[in-house]
Amino acid sequence: MSTLDSKVVAVTGASSGIGAATALELAARGAAVVLGARRTDRLGSLVARIRAEGGRAEMVEVDVTERADLERLVALAVEHFGRLDVLVSNAGVARTAPMADLDVDGWDAMIDVNLRGVLHGIAAALPVFRGQGRGHFVTTVSTSGLKIVPTQAVYAGTKNAVRTLLEALRQESTDGVLRTTSISPGYVRTELLDHIDDPGQREQARQSMASLGISPDAVARAVAFAIEQPDDVEIGDMTIRPTRQG
Ligand code: NDP
Repeated sequence: MSTLDSKVVAVTGASSGIGAATALELAARGAAVVLGARRTDRLGSLVARIRAEGGRAEMVEVDVTERADLERLVALAVEHFGRLDVLVSNAGVARTAPMADLDVDGWDAMIDVNLRGVLHGIAAALPVFRGQGRGHFVTTVSTSGLKIVPTQAVYAGTKNAVRTLLEALRQESTDGVLRTTSISPGYVRTELLDHIDDPGQREQARQSMASLGISPDAVARAVAFAIEQPDDVEIGDMTIRPTRQG
């Protein structure tokens, strides 16, 4: 029996990249997964694949900027599988530009998804975790928050804010009920940087990704490692980056 056989894990941003790889990895290790994102066609294909491989998966349309959507994600886990053990708050967007460009819409988008979206997940799952006497928050932050790079100020700021939230939550919860894990990926080959508006910046990001980027499976294995520890062991922070990343 896998150590994940008894776990119920909800994943946001499960429609592509790290979230999709995490869903596949956890389901293959026996976890029941509950998947949320806006692109339900992608989620549907992933659920079908997991079930075809003998896994357990459910899905619901989730826009993390909407608090009610996170409540529906958590409720689906509880209704369908009886509880929620882990919330992987992974949904994220990245816009890169110098601050002087005043890309205020981009700043707002990153704050809404990367920061407010994680808070909405905490608000939805925390009462359930407390009621169960057990729960685990996992977030996908970034090496951008560890080594500050020009053009990534707001992105890095949102990721460091989330790291702070989880550390505060940890310190407020030393009764053993909650575990918190912040995972900091470096360059990972996903669609994340395809959404950068500026063509020059997008091309530069794509080149870095192509030459350096590691598979999202590497991050998925790190998430699984954190989750499968015994309840009295918390993996607080992990950095997963290409060996050649500066
Ligand atoms: P992708 O672009 O492949 O995945 C991003 C995911 O976030 C998608 O599933 C997308 O789903 C979801 N998402 C975006 N906005 C929303 C929203 N409003 N509501 C719900 N879901 C949303 O990129 P990655 O897999 O790389 O990104 C996953 C996480 O990893 C992000 O938090 C990112 O910041 C972080 N990260 C990535 C790194 C990398 O190099 N790739 C490095 C460090 C951190 P949909 O559009 O269907 O809603």
